[in-house]
Amino acid sequence: MAIETRREPAPAVPLPILSHWIDGRPVEVLPEGTQPVYNPATGQVIARVPRGGKVEVDAAVEAAKRAFPAWRDMPLIARSQVLFAFREVAWKHREELAKLITRDHGKTFADALAGVTRGIETVEYACGLPVHLAGMNTPNVATGGDAVTLRQPLGVVAAITPFNFPVMVPMWIVPIAIAAGNAVILKPSSHTPGATQLQAELWKEAGLPDGIFSIVYGGRDAVSAIVEHPDIAAIQFVGSTPVGRYVYEEGTKRGKRVGAFTSAKNMMVVLPDADMEQTADAAVASGYGSAGERCMAQTLVVAVGDVGDRLRPLMLERIAKLKIDDGMAPGVDMGPIYTREHRASIIKWIDRGVEEGAELVGDGRPVVHPEHPDGFFLGVTLFDGVKPGMDIYNEEIFGPVLGIVRVDTYDEAIKLVNSHKYANGTAIFTTDGGAARRYQLEVDVPMIGVNVPIPVPAGYLSFSGAKESAIGDLPMRGEDGLRFFTRQKEVTIRWPEPGRRAALSLVFPSNT
Ligand code: NAD
Repeated sequence: MAIETRREPAPAVPLPILSHWIDGRPVEVLPEGTQPVYNPATGQVIARVPRGGKVEVDAAVEAAKRAFPAWRDMPLIARSQVLFAFREVAWKHREELAKLITRDHGKTFADALAGVTRGIETVEYACGLPVHLAGMNTPNVATGGDAVTLRQPLGVVAAITPFNFPVMVPMWIVPIAIAAGNAVILKPSSHTPGATQLQAELWKEAGLPDGIFSIVYGGRDAVSAIVEHPDIAAIQFVGSTPVGRYVYEEGTKRGKRVGAFTSAKNMMVVLPDADMEQTADAAVASGYGSAGERCMAQTLVVAVGDVGDRLRPLMLERIAKLKIDDGMAPGVDMGPIYTREHRASIIKWIDRGVEEGAELVGDGRPVVHPEHPDGFFLGVTLFDGVKPGMDIYNEEIFGPVLGIVRVDTYDEAIKLVNSHKYANGTAIFTTDGGAARRYQLEVDVPMIGVNVPIPVPAGYLSFSGAKESAIGDLPMRGEDGLRFFTRQKEVTIRWPEPGRRAALSLVFPSNT
């Protein structure tokens, strides 16, 4: 959430300036209205990104309104051809997209590429729009009368997305909204703009009409302009809970449909019968992959019975071997943190955990990259003895910090999962099918993994959250995503038939 404050070194060559993308083309931006983009591996400024606001949002909405009617009325097969073409160009450029993600975010290239591929899964789902948008026909709802259920686009809609998945998260929202026949304005994070910008060019290459997809960069001003714009009908937001709550409350107050998918603190319950080697792999991969900057990372390992004593040495063995480096380096396991400020905030959380009395068994704070001392690198941290009530138990850290929480019984573990304020994803590690079945039925968390540490559902299924991890009614993606971005109409039809004319009557019509 923080805006960069550090004084920037003077660049030797002019830095590239990214531009808003409105009405199918980049918009000229002056350097004064921009902010720096950093490569977290080197700590250097690599580009500048504009800070947009009401003017740019208004322009994008006007372009969207002009383009919308023709897109809505386009034959579905023609509309789906654009989605197919986008899938092809996105696939062709997937490595380029992934490199831009690694450059701006810091995550490893392999991880970035996996995120792009997961995003493309949702594009593939959206390609089937002629089938997904089928309505319903109910014959004979009255004498000589039928009912037709239609699903129609809402008009101009918006997506507000976070820094950590600059391709995957927009691809979870934008293709579905476009497939449904809407025009979309994307307000991405300003920290990871490179791959976002390329997506605009790819939509253009795929033949999407100008105005149907626009990008406005910026922070609070741009978001407020979206939330307050009377012609934006719906918003899907992905990011932190406080901002999501603001978007939801201010948006719904103005009659918009809003879905906000927000912060997390995911728990991985490990039963004594679990395969400990596999579980240790899973815990380390889930907690430290992408430097813990994933909303589906399992950041609390709830160890039942003697699991803590058995799992901890296995995790430490793996932690000792992790290679932390530039995300493009060969064999790298974890890259840097995405900003200097966020790195400082994670260090404060580690300090807090120590103050609170958790046992620090692995300390990532001293790690510095030998060749890139200005890079935003941090090592991985493991706490044991994390307890409910501690801040490091309650709050999202969003960094490479894992905590082991020890409990005596499975019942206690379920109670902890169900009493946490966040409910995004959770996992159970066990070889007992009955215990796993009970977990699926009893936990109040909507995305569950059984021996799967990052239980992100496949790209054509819904993605949701509960409690402080999601605000709104419908999940995103899949059938729910299409429902979110369409309005259902019920049409009752009666055609005049020769010889059948009812007598004039002012009585409320019955369906007989
Ligand atoms: P963020 O809330 O800081 O930013 C999200 C979006 O809101 C960005 O576009 C940002 O520019 C904008 N924004 C930031 N501050 C704002 C403000 N004060 N007013 C208006 N708009 C503002 O989130 P982030 O740091 O980019 O992403 C990390 C957060 O996102 C974590 O909490 C993580 O759990 C969450 N996340 C959730 C999911 C999910 O599906 N539930 C997925 C990814 C990330």
